[in-house]
Amino acid sequence: MNKFSFRKITQFIFFAIVLIVTYAKNAVELGLPTIPWIDGLSLHAICPFGAVETFYTLITGQGMINKIHESTIVMFVLVTAGAVLFGSAFCGFICPLGTIQEWIGKLGKKLFPKKYNKIIPQKLDVKLKYLRYVVLAAILYFSSTTLKLVFADYDPYYALFNFYAGEVTITAIAVLAVVLLSSLIIERPWCRYLCPYGVILGWFNKIRIFKLSRNSTTCIDCKKCDRVCPMNLKISDKKSVTSTSCISCMECTSERACPVEDTLVMKMGGVK
Ligand code: SF4
Ligand code: SF4
Repeated sequence: MNKFSFRKITQFIFFAIVLIVTYAKNAVELGLPTIPWIDGLSLHAICPFGAVETFYTLITGQGMINKIHESTIVMFVLVTAGAVLFGSAFCGFICPLGTIQEWIGKLGKKLFPKKYNKIIPQKLDVKLKYLRYVVLAAILYFSSTTLKLVFADYDPYYALFNFYAGEVTITAIAVLAVVLLSSLIIERPWCRYLCPYGVILGWFNKIRIFKLSRNSTTCIDCKKCDRVCPMNLKISDKKSVTSTSCISCMECTSERACPVEDTLVMKMGGVK
């Protein structure tokens, strides 16, 4: 089992890219040393969720809402194409807010080994996951009625990379602080209960071309896959993982946790 998996390297690279892009933009405004070529980019220009926020204004012919760029739409199309193939792999491999929650979670596992990811009862966990739909509905409603990027004022992702610049609201910083602190005891709390983009990408887990599936003939029912799943999903009794909460992290697969070769795999069409 590789300690530094392809996924961890990918997460690190994308985190670094976003960090550099946001610094380049803020450096111009703060009078810090700048990075030529990329200092005109902003986080909004590379975040695919902006396309969801401006969806209504686009389809009603009102153009894009303030701060959304053409590149946002390109990113959205690329991430959607990835989701058709692999489901919510953007969450497990790319999203820097997911990555930082994972990094803090590693510390949490050391600090609270017995309680980590076990404090929310399963029944409550199931109910709390519906909050993602509430957040998504609120964003769509307020973005389309105000024609503004309203979520930026509450967005922990935006606050994470811009907290040192003047544009970030105290509310967004407070949301970020709550997310990061709760990551010490709950695995990926933002992704699990609140992320409006994760819920959209999660729908693709139901139709993804490369299905995450379990071969029940070779499975030895050790339940290791269940134990490693960061989203606390029960995999060992499923033929195929279709939950909208799966982040396509691949940690459960035969490449990582499952001890039996070719038993839990992500492959085209799934296990026959
Ligand atoms: S089911 Fe597997 S791929 Fe999905 S979140 Fe759990 S461990 Fe990751
Ligand atoms: S880890 Fe592999 S062998 Fe064990 S229960 Fe899960 S799918 Fe079956």
